[in-house]
Amino acid sequence: MGKILGIIGGGQLGMMLTEAAKRMPEEISKVIVLDPTKNCPATQVGAEQIISDFKDAKSIHELAQKSDIITYEIESGNSDVLKSVQGMAEVSPSPESLRIIQDKLLQKRFLSENQIPISEFIQVDSINDLAQGLAKFGYPALLKARRDAYDGRGNFKINSSKDVQEAFDYFNGQNLMLEKFVQFKKEVSVIVGRNTKGQIKTFPLVENIHENNILRETIAPARVSEEISNQAEEIAKKTITVLKGAGVFGIEMFVTFENDILVNEIAPRVHNSGHHTLQSSETSQFDQHLRAILGLELGGVKLLHPTVMFNILGPKDFEGEYMPIKISEENVFLKMYGKKISKPLRKLGHLNVVGNPGESIDYLLQKLESLKEKVRVIPST
Ligand code: AMP
Repeated sequence: MGKILGIIGGGQLGMMLTEAAKRMPEEISKVIVLDPTKNCPATQVGAEQIISDFKDAKSIHELAQKSDIITYEIESGNSDVLKSVQGMAEVSPSPESLRIIQDKLLQKRFLSENQIPISEFIQVDSINDLAQGLAKFGYPALLKARRDAYDGRGNFKINSSKDVQEAFDYFNGQNLMLEKFVQFKKEVSVIVGRNTKGQIKTFPLVENIHENNILRETIAPARVSEEISNQAEEIAKKTITVLKGAGVFGIEMFVTFENDILVNEIAPRVHNSGHHTLQSSETSQFDQHLRAILGLELGGVKLLHPTVMFNILGPKDFEGEYMPIKISEENVFLKMYGKKISKPLRKLGHLNVVGNPGESIDYLLQKLESLKEKVRVIPST
């Protein structure tokens, strides 16, 4: 008899995890997601839903009662409550890792204590702390909200002394940290999985292109030297070794102009930069995550086809229903997330442009350019 899987969050990541669960009916018989949005993406592919805030203790208890294993697709779950339900259901990755990761300051401290390379940072509780940090790091520097910030929404770049007060006021009393600005030549990431028995596997390094702090494109494999990709994969392995719990983690990193690698952030879950694996790799990150938390042997991580992933985002100046997006092209895979309403920069779907043997990344990027118009989000009238 298969297990019942509970997921905190039923957005697109929960949706693709539910689809992966359906590919292993012997191991997983049912998926229940906890999400505040009625008819969230995961329910559209067969997950049951508890409609509730991610942090609501009563609903997390209900999910634990109904599930054998709980996992999450967002960082903002309630780690204390998740810890308290561990006797009722297995929780993976461990709530302790979630607690550390969901506070950017604790996360950076943890990485630093474990000798994982990161940019310099300090805690900021007052404008005085901020001034001291800026005196130490110089300009520009990034002031970050410690919690509940994603897609760069909680970051303020301080370019000069003129911005300091505005930056501090912007956060309106939230807990903050300041980071030295990294002049990077590339942003890269590694999806790394560890199963409950301790087996670890890393997917090859990919390159990420952001716009307005939101991931726009992922290029697999990253266009870096073998030395850098090996080094990044080693850092990812070390990071997951010091963190507790099973599952797939996304480790975001910077490559500097001096070819140093610094970890920017860890996601204790499947990650947008791993969506290419759905078509490019021996195993998708979603299947890998489930294999990891079920204690199965991890799947192969070989990149079989070079692939470029493009995020389909809602236009900046529009909120409302949009025209259906369809595309029919060889080796191009469109995945829409079933969100009826477009909102500014909301992730509505993604496109994987998969290479045949011998097709270069440049060719795939050109192909992607010619497809972008076809996947443009157009308001329906
Ligand atoms: P975060 O939400 O903190 O991961 O930041 C979102 C984006 O901000 C990252 O993908 C980077 O492009 C940029 N960023 C974050 N931290 C730094 C930093 N210390 N130096 C330069 N850019 C950064």
